[in-house]
Amino acid sequence: MNIILFGPPGAGKGTQAEIISKDLQIPTVSTGAIIRAAVKEGTPMGLSAKSYMDAGALVPDEVVIGIIKERLAKDDCKNGFILDGFPRTVPQAIALDGMGVKIDVVVSLEISDEAIVERMGGRRVCKACGATFHTVYNPSKAGDKCDVCGGELLVRDDDKPEVVLNRLNTYHKETEPLKDYYSGKGILKSVKGQGSVEEITALMKAALGM
Ligand code: AMP
Repeated sequence: MNIILFGPPGAGKGTQAEIISKDLQIPTVSTGAIIRAAVKEGTPMGLSAKSYMDAGALVPDEVVIGIIKERLAKDDCKNGFILDGFPRTVPQAIALDGMGVKIDVVVSLEISDEAIVERMGGRRVCKACGATFHTVYNPSKAGDKCDVCGGELLVRDDDKPEVVLNRLNTYHKETEPLKDYYSGKGILKSVKGQGSVEEITALMKAALGM
């Protein structure tokens, strides 16, 4: 099954993608995680992407389209994948269609801007392995260390309050129109994105027919 997990930044896409990915035994492909890894490694793509990311803006379409093309061509995507954070603009969705990839379902996590702002304040990311947590909704079992690898937990630079508002504006302006794009194709399913991680997973599984 080829799935797009759609929703505003901080809606819980990454957390839910990891859970569903384990259940379905298909990889999660997160453009944000790929870009963060490139920034950390200091590759040319990472260096050019960093300024967009830090400002809460989108990295140019041609860069992320290139990333996705390369990633989806890998063997582990042959039996399906979950896209987290891609596509984020209509041209990206059109490019995905142009790659000959058939998307089976787009699950849209619905959550208010107020809830997003509150959630972003509690989000923590492991500096070493990139695992994500939330101080209230999804705390690490190891307290202020990562319970996957023991790494240090940090607030993402782009989760700082002033950047979060920019990211939400960008979402409404550039990404939300994709709902019409996919509902026009008859593959959009909306799921309530507010509640516990377990409640939302159950709603998502129902939407995916799992
Ligand atoms: P995320 O982890 O999905 O919230 O992504 C973090 C940041 O990476 C975003 O705010 C963008 O700057 C960049 N990014 C991730 N995915 C995309 C995409 N599909 N298109 C453009 N920029 C992206």
